[in-house]
Amino acid sequence: MMFGGQVATVASVEGMPLAQPCSGVDLATAMVEALRAGGATLVTEAATAVTEGVPALQVATATQVLRAKSVVVATGCRPRLLDVPGEAALRGHGVSHCATCDGPLFRGEEVVVAGGGDAALQEALTLAQMCGRVSIVARFRPRARRAYVQQATATSNIRFIWDSTIDAVLGEDHVTGVWLRDVKTGETSDLACAGVFAYLGGIPNSEILPSSVARDEAGFVVTDLAFRTGANGVYAIGAVRAGYCGELVSAAGEAAAVARTIAG
Ligand SMILES: Cc1cc2nc3c(=O)[nH]c(=O)nc-3n(C[C@H](O)[C@H](O)[C@H](O)COP(=O)(O)OP(=O)(O)OC[C@H]3O[C@@H](n4cnc5c(N)ncnc54)[C@H](O)[C@@H]3O)c2cc1C
Repeated sequence: MMFGGQVATVASVEGMPLAQPCSGVDLATAMVEALRAGGATLVTEAATAVTEGVPALQVATATQVLRAKSVVVATGCRPRLLDVPGEAALRGHGVSHCATCDGPLFRGEEVVVAGGGDAALQEALTLAQMCGRVSIVARFRPRARRAYVQQATATSNIRFIWDSTIDAVLGEDHVTGVWLRDVKTGETSDLACAGVFAYLGGIPNSEILPSSVARDEAGFVVTDLAFRTGANGVYAIGAVRAGYCGELVSAAGEAAAVARTIAG
């Protein structure tokens, strides 16, 4: 597994008390280096199952089983897809989730960002620096923090298409447009564009946990205020957890709290 998580592809991390602007990849690299310097052993494999073995908990990977008294699950989320015709076939051919990596491919062209939350607006602002025009398509009025909405509103090549949803991604071997539907009137229209970037929240990576760990209806892990799950010794922190507030600074705080609890 790669280290870095959802923020690894972000051009400039917001909301962390950093001395100077920092990209997601630089932040992740600094954290990995700090862990190594602190003596941590890093295993670059996916965990496939966490089980309540006796006497220890077990974390399985494809090649080994690790045993531990405590397990902290910080597996976060994977991006929620539009789940519409054309999206899967055109992934990598105009459909993307990474503004920083793929934005330069659409220099001067029109792109569409789906979603109205913080991530959607943050990435739309990144794309606006490279692309000709960025259309933000969202079902609801902005849910993002006010500063992002104000910044996007003041950016001449960003426009909002509210109360709308994408019903299809159009194109044969690359994206040529999207099919839009006004969710209030039902009216449909097509919008020509070269790229589609969806930021619709995440699906929690909680499948590896045992059945004794409660999840909410969306699959987010339910914890108590000390981040304990229903399985003895198993904690959950960050974006995989129900009630997580969505910012790196909170994930770091949750990690510090659990580390203190485990250290006793
Ligand atoms: C586009 C975008 C921009 C954002 N910008 C900001 C920002 O500027 N500031 C901010 O504070 N927040 C930002 N966020 C939110 C922030 O990224 C998340 O709150 C944060 O990443 C949550 O961290 P996490 O470690 O809980 O989960 P994640 O970041 O999702 O990391 C989970 C990690 O676990 C790994 N993993 C998953 N399953 C397994 C498994 N089975 N075995 C081993 N490893 C596994 C994944 O590969 C990943 O590396 C942004 C989010 C997005 C999508």
